[in-house]
Amino acid sequence: MAILLSLGRFTLGRAVGVGFAKINGISLIRRTMHLQQNQAFVNGKWVGARSGETFEITNPANEQVIGTVPDMDVDDVNEAIGSAYDAFYDKGWHNSTAKERAALLKKWFHLLEINRQEIARIMTAESGKPIAESLGEISYGNSFVEWFAEEARRIYGEIVPTPQANRQMMLVKQPVGVAGLITPWNFPHAMITRKASAAIAAGCTVVIKPAEDTPLTALALTKLAEEAGFPKGVFNVITSSRKNAASIGELLCKSEKVAAISFTGSTEVGRLLYKQCSDGIKRIGLELGGNAPFIVFSSADLDKAVTGAMNSKFRNCGQTCISANRFLIQDEIHDEFIARLTEKIKALKIGDGSHDGVQIGPLINHSQVNKVTEFVEDAKQKGAHVVYGGHQLSQHGALFFEPTIITHLRDDMRLYKEEIFGPVVSVIRFKTEEEALQIANASQRGLAGYFYSNDLNQVFRVSKLLETGMIGINEGLISSAEAAFGGIKESGIGREGSKYGIDEYVYIKYLCYGSLE
Ligand code: NAP
Repeated sequence: MAILLSLGRFTLGRAVGVGFAKINGISLIRRTMHLQQNQAFVNGKWVGARSGETFEITNPANEQVIGTVPDMDVDDVNEAIGSAYDAFYDKGWHNSTAKERAALLKKWFHLLEINRQEIARIMTAESGKPIAESLGEISYGNSFVEWFAEEARRIYGEIVPTPQANRQMMLVKQPVGVAGLITPWNFPHAMITRKASAAIAAGCTVVIKPAEDTPLTALALTKLAEEAGFPKGVFNVITSSRKNAASIGELLCKSEKVAAISFTGSTEVGRLLYKQCSDGIKRIGLELGGNAPFIVFSSADLDKAVTGAMNSKFRNCGQTCISANRFLIQDEIHDEFIARLTEKIKALKIGDGSHDGVQIGPLINHSQVNKVTEFVEDAKQKGAHVVYGGHQLSQHGALFFEPTIITHLRDDMRLYKEEIFGPVVSVIRFKTEEEALQIANASQRGLAGYFYSNDLNQVFRVSKLLETGMIGINEGLISSAEAAFGGIKESGIGREGSKYGIDEYVYIKYLCYGSLE
């Protein structure tokens, strides 16, 4: 049954069509909107940079300009921080109830669901992601908003049994205040909702800085947050080009009005932000780069392992932080696994992500193309075997790279040691479980790992010994709002999603009621 969704007193502007969504089994119809914005959002208003500067966003599939947004600097960001601070303290957001926050997040979630097609169009245009993957990311990203809308009402404290009869001891959780959120281009929607909905559920206000390459998706989400009715100053988004990213990051880390930083991106930038937060002993959550091992033991179901390898490696053209980065394949099944995987790789459909059936789009920018090309050339020169691919695909566009499989990796090759962030399968052959674990753990990164085995004892042993924050066991796609996402070692601190995602944005206050009679 289709019903018209009623979202209380809010009204939609600039409706363009009819959107359908099924939410919790209920079909909804609602007018959809044009969501592409060309201004940032501060204190409930759409604004340009004070300097008047803008920068262009291009489609990586054809390098055509698809929009412009304000190139904001520290003056603009100071204003956004001030508005988030005032909204939290002076305008009373810190006194909002969990029920009110949950209701706003639910409204936002419904609007995000209904406008999936328009958000996906924008995301594919600015990130190059195939449209089916954009829709997949939207489901994933929206699920955080729904999840944290639900979690908002379960941020429980504790009453602690006291050692003295005349005392009562309570632990309550309070929002930290303003949260500065810095996000990357590879998941332009989900990295924002995973942070912002947890922060808002906890009772914080937010200042979001999306990546230079993908601000349009961020602004589309913001348009819907505005429609959902968050009070002025609770939700702020500032856009900037790469030249201003470092000074904005430093301001967010050092401003006394910002209580917490949450960053997703490279380990190099994460390390810098961590240092910048140290002066003010500022709380920081870091979701950083990975170097995921993908181990296939000889007892594995090879069909499942090949499917898992394709899912883990080629999603978003290999540009995900949990993409399999080093394939470790046991000696006895090595050749068979490579043969089956190569057949699947050859069948991938490459092209502009907005076209039907495309599975591999372009890389995000020239610097990514140069990096992937350099890694492959380095491996070739040092004696690796290219089984398939290994070149740029200029017939599709300047940013396309061929899905590639390379064997005979050695530990002096960059492909072996560093995060590739591209459509390249690099394979290491191993003989024993101990050897596989030694290779897998010989990395300072520890975000995700994967292994395939049908030996129950081995499954338990390897799960315990693999040094990563997340493990896919006979599974290549592991992300979910219900799961705790995060790494160990240099892959980060803190967890996002799950019930633990809220902890990044609350502190525990201990209340001791004494002298009770
Ligand atoms: P990045 O260069 O670190 O950029 C991430 C964000 O930080 C962007 O908004 C960027 O702005 C901003 N930034 C750059 N330099 C900064 C500075 N000095 N101070 C403050 N902010 C700064 O990373 P990326 O290349 O966009 O993303 C790829 C990396 O992210 C990979 O290593 C990947 O593994 C990691 N990642 C991790 C996760 C996770 O959950 N663990 C998820 C996705 C991606 P500009 O765009 O304007 O430069």
